[in-house]
Amino acid sequence: MERTGTERTDGSPAAPVAPAAPAAFADCVHCGEPTEYPAERPGVTLCPVCEWQEAQRTACSG
Ligand SMILES: [Zn+2]
Repeated sequence: MERTGTERTDGSPAAPVAPAAPAAFADCVHCGEPTEYPAERPGVTLCPVCEWQEAQRTACSG
């Protein structure tokens, strides 16, 4: 019993969905660490650390 199967369900299982292509993250303008913000984000991008430091500075200004 031979299957004349030219139509083979090419077993390529639904192409594995690439885990969200590494989006281009903007680098922290202070230390150059990658931030969690997209590169398209307008304005200054800071990493969580610098962001925190910046918050401390501005909080103390005055
Ligand atoms: Zn930084």
